[in-house]
Amino acid sequence: MTVLSVRNLETFYGAIMALRGVSIDVEQGEIVTILGANGAGKTTLMKTIAGLMDPEKGQITFMGDAIAGLDPDRVVSKGISLVPEGREVFPYLSIEENLKLGAFTRRGDLSNDLDLVYTYFPILKERRRQAAGFLSGGQQQMLAIGRGLMAEPKLMMLDEPSLGLSPLLTQEIFGIIARLNAEEGVTMLLVEQNAHIALETAHRGYVLEMGRIVMTGPCEQLKASDDIQEFYLGRT
Ligand code: ATP
Repeated sequence: MTVLSVRNLETFYGAIMALRGVSIDVEQGEIVTILGANGAGKTTLMKTIAGLMDPEKGQITFMGDAIAGLDPDRVVSKGISLVPEGREVFPYLSIEENLKLGAFTRRGDLSNDLDLVYTYFPILKERRRQAAGFLSGGQQQMLAIGRGLMAEPKLMMLDEPSLGLSPLLTQEIFGIIARLNAEEGVTMLLVEQNAHIALETAHRGYVLEMGRIVMTGPCEQLKASDDIQEFYLGRT
């Protein structure tokens, strides 16, 4: 089943056209990655899907509903959560309070969701009463992913989860991302500058260059492409 379908999306910053007719699909249970250099439009694509920016043209269909131009809280309540670049946790709130805010669109008992997050990120359970501002960069990334999970998303969008993390922590975070997909069935759209780890973790990918999709395929196929090896994997 197709969870997300984006067609001919165009998004502008004033006169700057950041997305120039982007079309992508995400199927249930997949991890789909968007590769692209700095400024290619990856963040803009996620922000437009999340309702943080309005597209000038194009369609976004989520679980069969047209969602382009909806407010961000409506998009979250439909089942899309964005784990933003730079994490944006609330530093003065406790870890558990940060997590509960991720479930703002839902009512009722959150204990099952908290338990799920704490199963994958035991360090967050240990430190749940501490202010989030005291967490390390890697732990803040874990908190941001945990908060995204609290909304019980049908699609989780992750923007640059490796940003600012050591190679070891990056491996750890991506290991958890892969487990959440395999064990909990969380469908994911993953933007990541580190093409090596993105292509190892995802099933399928798209390459975005200057606001356009220039290549797509299963990750195995992308890894074998000369262009991907030269420009994204740094092999000569
Ligand atoms: P990065 O990895 O650096 O975040 P990206 O692929 O996510 O890159 P975007 O941030 O989506 O790229 O930017 C796409 C284009 O839009 C770039 O040309 C960028 O200069 C431009 N852009 C982004 N944000 C703004 C803004 N606030 N005002 C004007 N132009 C912007």
